[in-house]
Amino acid sequence: MRLFRFKFLLLGIACISINTQAQQSAKTSAAVKFIDPKNMDFTIKPGDDFYLYANGVWIKNNPVPAKETRWGSFHVLKDFNTSVVKSLLTEAASNKSLDGSPEQRIGDFYAAGMDSIAIEKLGFTPILPDLKRIDQIKDLAGIINEAAVMRTKGIASPMFTFYVNQDSKNVNTMISQLYQGGTTLPDRDYYLKDNTRNLKIKEAYQAYIVKLFTLTGSNETIAKKNAEIIFAIEKSLAESQLSRVELRDPVKTYNKFSIADFSKTTPYLNWQLVLAKMKVNGQDSLLVSSPKFFSDLNTLLTKTSIPDWKIYLQWNVLKKSAPYLSSAFVDANFAFNQVLSGQKVQTPRWQRMSNLTDDAIGELLGQLYVRTYFKPEAKARMMEMIGNLRKAFEIRIKNLDWMSDVTKERALAKLAAFSPKIGYPDKWKTYEGLKINRATFFANVRNAEAWEYHDMVNQLGKPVDRTRWGMTPPTVNAYYNPVKNEIVFPAGILQFPFFDPNADDAINYGGIGAVIGHEMSHGFDDRGSQYDKDGTLRNWWTEEDRTKFEAKNKMLGEQFEKYTVLDTLHVNGKLTMGENIGDLGGLNAAYEAFKMTQQAQSNEIIDGFNPDQRFFLSWAQVWRGNILPESAAQQIVVDTHSPGQYRTIGAPVNMDAWYKAFNIQPGDKLYKNQEERLKIW
Ligand SMILES: [Zn+2]
Repeated sequence: MRLFRFKFLLLGIACISINTQAQQSAKTSAAVKFIDPKNMDFTIKPGDDFYLYANGVWIKNNPVPAKETRWGSFHVLKDFNTSVVKSLLTEAASNKSLDGSPEQRIGDFYAAGMDSIAIEKLGFTPILPDLKRIDQIKDLAGIINEAAVMRTKGIASPMFTFYVNQDSKNVNTMISQLYQGGTTLPDRDYYLKDNTRNLKIKEAYQAYIVKLFTLTGSNETIAKKNAEIIFAIEKSLAESQLSRVELRDPVKTYNKFSIADFSKTTPYLNWQLVLAKMKVNGQDSLLVSSPKFFSDLNTLLTKTSIPDWKIYLQWNVLKKSAPYLSSAFVDANFAFNQVLSGQKVQTPRWQRMSNLTDDAIGELLGQLYVRTYFKPEAKARMMEMIGNLRKAFEIRIKNLDWMSDVTKERALAKLAAFSPKIGYPDKWKTYEGLKINRATFFANVRNAEAWEYHDMVNQLGKPVDRTRWGMTPPTVNAYYNPVKNEIVFPAGILQFPFFDPNADDAINYGGIGAVIGHEMSHGFDDRGSQYDKDGTLRNWWTEEDRTKFEAKNKMLGEQFEKYTVLDTLHVNGKLTMGENIGDLGGLNAAYEAFKMTQQAQSNEIIDGFNPDQRFFLSWAQVWRGNILPESAAQQIVVDTHSPGQYRTIGAPVNMDAWYKAFNIQPGDKLYKNQEERLKIW
């Protein structure tokens, strides 16, 4: 479900990689080469292009499969996890399990989604009541009411985004938060910048709108008119949105209001009433990421006619529901996504339904997943590595030549306060009251979404629940959450090439060790460093240290701005700043921790490489991958992570150890002299 992923992004959570869709077996035997020279391209000098040197042959031999948009270490592992999930779901669906048990509910959810005959028969009848109800709206109050109520029923989230999270300046309290939204295309740029690429996408988007309206009975002329109306409303919302770079500023986007005062800035949106419709009660204040977006929305509410708003609301129902209706809708949805992503063929139904089950009721599925696929030994080993990374980070902070003792002391206190979560939640979501029925796929999806919404809203007025997770157990990813000051590693990523209990330390420290370091460094990146050890948004830096830190960050941004994608598109140094600092700090800390191991102190050669070489090759191996040009172009605009090829080299070119390991010399293309090599953490 989109809602879940979007919400996740909003919370300011910084992760290791964006999961789009998505093998070799993750089980590795002793005979397996953890660094396989057959994947490398020895015709390339490591100092000229370390990414291709380490991965060139693998990249040549592993093009993006037709059903995918990217293909690399993350996706291969994700694909493996999805096949594991599929077998769990198929088994659950074929067994008669106790009613209400995790097995029954995930089995029925999946089986309902796989029943394409039943889904086909229904056509778009599941959304007919919504379309009719919207059709009967008479006035603006009705429009606003519908936009509010839709959320509580899991139908859609029109006009703006709403969520509940900790108040970042009062982290022991949960608070309502309003955020910009209401658009469909992946970024405001697609509405506002008229280059060839965007024009093509805009055209495809309008065609998609026309298609869904004609499928639900509108004639072509009306459907085309609808597309114009919807685009105009969304464009207007896009004009009021902050850019992704602006949204990264936690201070600027922290605006606390009493609900009564905020309503005065938006006379047509009485938030006391709107929030009550959204099942938010007993609250007197809220946070708003961009007040201007809401005052503009208020103006738009009066400028736009009621019939036009009705079309916009119907569109929100259509676009959200299309993937769960009959094949005509699913195909139209895919045709539009194809233009955005370049994907050649539709992902198989079993894969989509496995992913959907994970998105919708992932903590039921996760209970089965970890029972078979997560070993307590992995958790113990991770705890040990996290301890070693923490030690290494501590040494590095103490040794920083640019930071004063007083700021160092606070940084060390923050480091000591990081709380790790590994594998899966200690306390599972129960999904109590959520009905899953094998005969009602569409209702299952909506009910699950509505359940998540109520579960979120029900946190208001209660103590902060620190056991909650933002990712499901099979996820191949990891994250840092600044308001909880926690680093989180789902079971799904604790496999090769990130981690393997049989691998040598160089592999594990260059892989999951660097991921641990990356998440820790998020606590000290340009954004995360504005939160203190308790997760409170509060400056703990001296002014002088902050100035020095920002100057270093700017230099790192400039290094990344020089990296190009598709010839003309450059990496956005400001958008990717936090991730690049995460990689640089993370790989350095992982290397420092690796140096404490026996292997690092030996000269042992394995498969032709010494310990330091294996460490950096392991890091490079994590980032190998191919991506379709359309997806690469989108990534540059929306993704806070730099492309994998530049993540491979971005940190190493600043590390003396990498130069030494591969004998990189002046004249090599990636060579930087001592003054150019950046050391931030
Ligand atoms: Zn990250």
